Amino acid sequence: MNVILVGPPGAGKGTQAETIVEHFKIPHVSTGDMFRDAVRQGTELGKRAQEYMNAGKLVPDEVTIGIVKERLSQPDCDKGFLLDGFPRTVVQAEALDGIMESLGKKIEIVVNIAVPDEIIVERIVGRRSCKKCNTVYHTKFNPPKVEGICDKCGEPLFQRADDQEATAVQRLRVYAEQTNPVLDFYAQKGVVKDIDGNRARAAVWEDVKKVLESYDNN
Ligand SMILES: [Zn+2]
Repeated sequence: MNVILVGPPGAGKGTQAETIVEHFKIPHVSTGDMFRDAVRQGTELGKRAQEYMNAGKLVPDEVTIGIVKERLSQPDCDKGFLLDGFPRTVVQAEALDGIMESLGKKIEIVVNIAVPDEIIVERIVGRRSCKKCNTVYHTKFNPPKVEGICDKCGEPLFQRADDQEATAVQRLRVYAEQTNPVLDFYAQKGVVKDIDGNRARAAVWEDVKKVLESYDNN
């Protein structure tokens, strides 16, 4: 089962990813982890990626794609994988097709966790965090017992800069510009499954599981 997981920041993609890999026993292949592994293992591509990152430059596609290919060729991906954070562009998606073909595989399903922008913004701007113990609350959905105070350690809560409305809106805009062409690319192949992410975590997971199980049994 070769799956790509897609979803905007704040849609709960991380939690779903954890549950998917645990339930279906497939590796979670995220771009961040792949880069870190390649750099740590000192592979040729890892070294090249490191040079760009050290120089504060964007790692070019050929290097990124090479790293993805190395990762997906490893034996733990034989029975499938959950790809997260890649491909980000149509060029990368086309390159991924080439990789899959060379491995005798294909992308079977793209799970798109969809949540309306205004809902995501509401989720993000209501977040309050504790500096001391890192617990995250939400003013509406998960409020602390005493407003503005951490239940666990009594510290005053604060709003991270990333969670402010203008930043959240900007991130969503960038996300949509980047991701929509990639989703269109896979929609043309008929492999995109939209999941309504505007529900409780458990309800979203039930749908994700159903979609993946129906595929897994085929
Ligand atoms: Zn705390």
